[in-house]
Amino acid sequence: MLTLHNYINGAWLPPQQQQYFDNINPATGEVSGNIPDSDAADIEQAVAAAQAAFPQWSAMPPDMRAKHLLQLAAAIEHHLEHLAAAESADNGKPISVARSVDIPRAAANFRFFAQAVTQFSTETHHQPHFLNYTLRQPIGVVGCISPWNLPLYLFTWKIAPALAAGNCVVAKPSEITPVTAYLLSKLCEEVAFPKGVLNIVHGSGARAGQAIVEHRGIKAISFTGGTATGRKIAQTAAPLFKKISLELGGKNPALVFADCDFDATVSEITRSAFSNQGQICLCNSRIYVERSIYEPFKTAFIEKVKKLRTGNPALPDTQIGAVVSEAHRDKILSYIALAQQEGGQVLCGGTTATVEAPCQNGFFIQPTVIEGLTTQCRVNQEEIFGPVVTLQPFDTESEALMWANSSDYGLAATVWTQNLERAHRLAETLQSGIVWVNCWMHRDLRTPFGGVKHSGVGREGGFEALRFFTEAKNITIRY
Ligand code: NAD
Repeated sequence: MLTLHNYINGAWLPPQQQQYFDNINPATGEVSGNIPDSDAADIEQAVAAAQAAFPQWSAMPPDMRAKHLLQLAAAIEHHLEHLAAAESADNGKPISVARSVDIPRAAANFRFFAQAVTQFSTETHHQPHFLNYTLRQPIGVVGCISPWNLPLYLFTWKIAPALAAGNCVVAKPSEITPVTAYLLSKLCEEVAFPKGVLNIVHGSGARAGQAIVEHRGIKAISFTGGTATGRKIAQTAAPLFKKISLELGGKNPALVFADCDFDATVSEITRSAFSNQGQICLCNSRIYVERSIYEPFKTAFIEKVKKLRTGNPALPDTQIGAVVSEAHRDKILSYIALAQQEGGQVLCGGTTATVEAPCQNGFFIQPTVIEGLTTQCRVNQEEIFGPVVTLQPFDTESEALMWANSSDYGLAATVWTQNLERAHRLAETLQSGIVWVNCWMHRDLRTPFGGVKHSGVGREGGFEALRFFTEAKNITIRY
C-alpha cells in the first residue's frame, strides 16, 4: 500500500484536511494505495511556494534551467524500469507499452524542452529610426492538469515547457493514475531540483483541479482531458482572463483506400485502433474502407485483432491490458450495447475478457470491431475511449471525406493510399489538427500538436508550447 503525499516547496505533505481516497489497480481490482483528496487550502500552499520560487527561477539563464531539466530527464531514464512497472500497475497498460512509450517519452519531454529553450528566439521589427523588439517573458505561476491515459507522458509534456520557459508550476495528475507523478517528485529531490519551482498536488478534478483553475495567482492553465471538463475549465478561466490551452477528446477517422499498401495498412490500423486499449486520444475509432476492398480488409483486420493477446499487463508479451477503471469498463460496455441497439453487428470481441489470477477481478474488455452503423449514430459520434472501433464501407473519396468531417471532434485523422495527390487533397480538407498519411502516431516534438472543433483550443509542442507559456512584450526604441 503506497500512501501518496503532495509535493510542495520541496517537501512531502499530507493534505491539510487529512482526507484520502483509494487508488485501485485496474488489472486486479484491488486497492493499491491512498491518494490525497486535496482541496483549495493545499492549492493555496502550493501557489505560495511557487510564487516565492518564481523570482529566482525566472531570472535564471535558460541554459541553467535546461541543466536542471536535463538532470530530471536522466533520472527518469535511470529509473525507467521502476517507473514503467508503476505506470503499468496504476493504469492497466501493458508493461511493454510503459517501457517503450510512456516513460521514454517522459524523459524525452524534459530533454526536448531543455534544448528548445536554449534555441528559443524572439522577433525584431525595424522601421526607419525605430527598432521594435519582443521579449517573451515567463507568465508566473501556471497550472498543469493532465489525464489518466498516458499519465507521466502527458504530465511532463506540460510541465517541461512551462518550467523551461521560466514559470513555476502547480500541477495535478489524474486522481486515477497519480503514482508516477508522485515518483517524479521523488526524482526532483534526487537531482536537487530547486524547491517550490515544481509543486505536485493530488486530488479530484472537482476539488483540487477546480481550485487550480479558480486561483487568481495562477495565470495560465494547460489542460488535457475530456471535452466536457475543458468546457467547464474555459467557463471558469474566461472571467479571470487566464490564458488556457485545452487538449480534448477525439473521434478519429481512418480513411482506407483500395490503393493502400494492404498488409501494412491492416497492421498499422490494428495498432492505431487498439494501442493502450484504445485509450489514446489519437486512436482511430471510425474506420472507413473503400468498398472494393471492404470484405478482404475486414477479414484480414478481424484475423489480426483476434490474435492480440489480452492479459496481465505485468507480463512482457501482453498486448492488451486492463482498461483504467471499473466505471470506465462499464461505460465502454454500455457503448457496445448501444451499438447493437443502433443496428450494429459485433464482428469480434463485444464483451469482457477473462484473465487468470491475479487478474481475475480486473477490468478487461476484448478488442471489439463493429459494422453496420451509420455515421450519424451515437456510437460513431461520441468518444468511447476504449478498445472499440467501427467499420464502414464508402464508395467515393468525397463520401469518405464528408463522413470523416461529420463529427464535432477534430483531433487526428489517418489516410491510407499510394496516391500522392489524393493524400495532399485530403490532408488539406480533413477538419483535423493532425493528419497522418500511411502512418499513425509518428510524433516529432517540434511540431504543433492539438485539435480543432471540440478537440481543443491552442497548440502544444515545440515553440508553440514555449509561446503559450510566455507573454510577448513589445518594446519600441527611437534612435
Ligand atoms: P477528465 O477530463 O475527466 O480529467 C482530466 C483531468 O482534469 C484530471 O486530472 C481531472 O482530475 C481534472 N479535472 C476534472 N474536472 C476538473 C475541473 N472542474 N477543473 C479542473 N480539473 C478538472 O479526462 P480523463 O477521463 O482523465 O481523460 C480522458 C480524456 O482525455 C478523453 O476525452 C481523451 O480524449 C482526452 N485526452 C486528450 C488528449 C489530447 O491531447 N487532446 C490526450 C489525452 C487524453
